[in-house]
Amino acid sequence: MPHTIVSEICEGVSDCVNACPVACIKPGNGKNKKGTDFYWIDFSTCIDCGICLQVCPVEGAVINDERSELQKTPT
Ligand code: SF4
Ligand code: SF4
Repeated sequence: MPHTIVSEICEGVSDCVNACPVACIKPGNGKNKKGTDFYWIDFSTCIDCGICLQVCPVEGAVINDERSELQKTPT
């Protein structure tokens, strides 16, 4: 089960981006409702290692579940 970044909670710190072993965390388009950058996880590449959740400093930004409705991806 892939991990999800909650677009409206992520603050774009990007600690997760460099920590991900398969480089599947990508920048989102524009800003979220907090006015910060945000990232999203490519579910098809994520290997569910959990490192992004461990390194993220923002409570609730990463979820150990596949929740596409919480994660904005470029269309
Ligand atoms: S999920 Fe966490 S570590 Fe990754 S960009 Fe968002 S706030 Fe930063
Ligand atoms: S669970 Fe692992 S592979 Fe998936 S996005 Fe997070 S760091 Fe990357």
